[in-house]
Amino acid sequence: MGKTFAVIGDPINHSLSPNIHSAAFRELNLDCSYIAYRIPKGELEEGIESLKKIKIDGFNVTIPHKIEMMKYLDKIDESCSLIGAVNTVVNNDGILKGYNTDMEGFLEPIKKKKINIADSNVLLLGAGGAARAIVAGFAKEKAKSITIANRTIEKANDLVEFAQKISLNANSITIEQVKDTAKNYNIIVNATSIGLQNESSLISLDGINDKTVVYDIVYMPLNTDFLKKAKEKNAIVIFGYEMLLGQAIRAFEIWHSMEAPYNAMKKALLGGF
Ligand code: NAP
Repeated sequence: MGKTFAVIGDPINHSLSPNIHSAAFRELNLDCSYIAYRIPKGELEEGIESLKKIKIDGFNVTIPHKIEMMKYLDKIDESCSLIGAVNTVVNNDGILKGYNTDMEGFLEPIKKKKINIADSNVLLLGAGGAARAIVAGFAKEKAKSITIANRTIEKANDLVEFAQKISLNANSITIEQVKDTAKNYNIIVNATSIGLQNESSLISLDGINDKTVVYDIVYMPLNTDFLKKAKEKNAIVIFGYEMLLGQAIRAFEIWHSMEAPYNAMKKALLGGF
């Protein structure tokens, strides 16, 4: 019998996940379908019950349910307990197991470019939901140092506390107010929502060079001002869509226990822009 998957969240209409996963099913001739299912904030419990009724095989979870979804899991993978949020669920006869593929999704393009994280001083702009998976990733890979710069300093403090709690901080973690310079860092990541509305980059990229990695997790638009400025400096650029693709590939592999068709999924994702 065919399998059914979904992405839940609100808003959900513009999610690219149905395109990405459907392309993989076509590529591998899998008898599966993937739907976008809007569940408003406050209606998660009922939403999950309805997914169980239709015997959904698995689903992705996005804003605003990533943290609340933890309450409804029967089993929690380490990736999920580490970050305290869930983005991928497997339904095994009504038993829900949660995973978080954001951290590996974030790291994947950095590793693909063979960048040595352990030798890197990292500047992370932002301390929201996505920044948690990123900090966990850099801590896991033992980055030399992580500097968190955020508009609201309390949120940066919470993130440092989180890093200490997960006991992965064999590296040094410091906090700065949003920096206006990016010099002295090997990897600079924008994990704020600045760029979504075509805003100018939060910081100047003066002083970076062709060995600096500049990673914007904002994926819509594809070419943010931050990345345009990085390209002008010939920096190594990583696009937000690469993280999105990375997390989808991990989710696919969890659900189907087989290698994901990377090229077909990438093509479908980029076709959505
Ligand atoms: P979030 O929890 O709402 O956090 C937003 C972050 O942006 C906070 O650090 C916030 O600072 C900062 N910010 C917002 N407006 C700002 C401004 N005017 N000036 C300075 N800082 C500002 O959002 P999130 O879930 O972490 O997501 C952040 C972005 O990443 C979104 O654009 C999202 O689409 C993208 N994202 C991409 C992927 C991917 O796969 N590529 C995955 C997840 C998220 P304060 O703390 O001061 O408010």
